Amino acid sequence: MATYQNGRKNKPLDIVIVGGGLVGSLEALYLAKRGHRVRLYEYREDIRNTPTARGRSINLALSVRGRKALRGVGLEQEMVQEHGIPMVGRYIHRLDGSTYIIPYDSRTNQCIYSVGRNFLNSLLLKESEKYKNVEKYFNHKLINTNLQKGFLTFQKTQTNETVEVNADLIIGSDGAYSAVRKAMMKEPLFDYSQKYIEHGYMELCIPPGDDGEFQMPSQYLHIWPRGNFMLIALPNQDRTWTVTLFMPFAKFNEIDTDEKLLNFFGKYFSDAIPLIGKKKLIEDFFSGSALPLVSVKCRPYHVKDKALLIGDAAHAVVPFYGQGMNCGFEDCTILDELFKKHNDNLKNILNEFSATRWVDVFAISDLAMYNYVEMRDLVTRPSYLFRKSIDDF
Ligand code: FAD
Repeated sequence: MATYQNGRKNKPLDIVIVGGGLVGSLEALYLAKRGHRVRLYEYREDIRNTPTARGRSINLALSVRGRKALRGVGLEQEMVQEHGIPMVGRYIHRLDGSTYIIPYDSRTNQCIYSVGRNFLNSLLLKESEKYKNVEKYFNHKLINTNLQKGFLTFQKTQTNETVEVNADLIIGSDGAYSAVRKAMMKEPLFDYSQKYIEHGYMELCIPPGDDGEFQMPSQYLHIWPRGNFMLIALPNQDRTWTVTLFMPFAKFNEIDTDEKLLNFFGKYFSDAIPLIGKKKLIEDFFSGSALPLVSVKCRPYHVKDKALLIGDAAHAVVPFYGQGMNCGFEDCTILDELFKKHNDNLKNILNEFSATRWVDVFAISDLAMYNYVEMRDLVTRPSYLFRKSIDDF
C-alpha cells in the first residue's frame, strides 16, 4: 500500500470547511498537516485585505486552551510573544474613579493575552499558504447543502454564480448563525436551543495619549462594574484600547441624545470620559448600534461520517468568560487527537467528538452566562455575598 503524506497508509480525505473565521482557518491547518485535501470556503472577502474586523469584537482574550491549539500548528510563539499583550489581572475602576487590581494568578504568574482578531485570522490564513493541499475560496456563501451526501452549493457573492461542490467531510465552522447547522436541524434527534440575553454590546475606543502611549496601565483587563451593566477595555498593539459597553438594550435605547450620553457616562464612568474624549464618545456611540449576544447549544455535532460542526457553529457562548474562540480552538486540538487516535476513520472520529465534547462545551456556556454577573457585579462584593447572588442568578 502506498504511504501518503504524514506517514499515513490511507488515502487523503477531501474535506470542505465552511467558514474561514478563526476556528475554520485553524482547523484547515490541522487537517493540512495531516495531509488531507482542504478546501476552505468563506462568505466574506479575504480578511487580509480588509482593515478592520466587521461586526465582531476587535480584540479577544487568548487563554491557555487557545494557546495550546496554536502551539499544535507552530503559531503560539508568534501570536503570544510577538503580538499578544499580556493581561495579568483585572483592573477595577470604582464609581468614584479610584482603582484596584485583582491579579489572575499571583502564584505562578499565568495570564491571558489580548490579541487582535484581524491579526490572528490573517496569521492563520497566511500560514495556510505553506500547504499546497489547502485551497481558499473567498466571497463564497454556502446557500444549500445535503449533509448526508456531502454536497454543497455556494454562491459567489460578487457574480451571483453558483458552484456545486462534493466532499468526503463537511466541516461547518460558519459561526453562531451557521448555515451548516441550519441544515443539520432537519436531521432526526438533533437537539438545538438558543438564547438571546437582554443585554447587548457596543465597542468604543480609547486612543493613544499625546505621547503615543497607552493611556492606562496596559497589562490588565480593565473593568468598570456597575451592577446591571459594565464597561471593559482590552489593549491593542497600536496603543489604543477597545472599550466594550455591555448593557440592557432598554438602557441603550434610553440614551438618544448627546446630553443623555454624557450624563450617563459622567454618572457611571466619569474617569473614562477624558480617556475616550467627549467628541469621540459621542461620534462612536451614535454611529454604531448595540449588537445582540446569543448563546447556542446543540448536539450531536455530526451527521454520519459526512458532516461536523465546530466553533461558534456548534457552541456560540456569551463573551463574558472570554472562552468562545478558545473553546473553538480547543475543538481543533481535540479533533486532531481523534484523527490520530482513529487513524482518520471519520465515523469513529465524529462519533467520539459528539459523544464527549458537549459536556465541557455546555459547562463553558453556563460559566460564561454566570460570569457576566461576576464581572459586572460580584467582582465588587465580599465573597460571603456571592451565595445569595448566585441563587438570584
Ligand atoms: P466566526 O468568527 O463567526 O467565523 C465564522 C466565519 O464563517 C465568518 O468568517 C463568516 O463570514 C463565515 N460564514 C458565515 N456564514 C457563512 C456561509 N453561509 N458561507 C460561508 N461562510 C460563512 N472569545 C474568546 O475566546 N475570547 C474573547 O475575549 C472573546 N471576546 C468576545 C467579545 C465579543 C463582543 C464577542 C461577540 C465574542 C467574543 N468572543 C471571544 C467569541 C469569539 O468571537 C467567537 O467564539 C469566535 O469568533 C468563533 O470563531 P468561529 O470561527 O467559530 O466563528
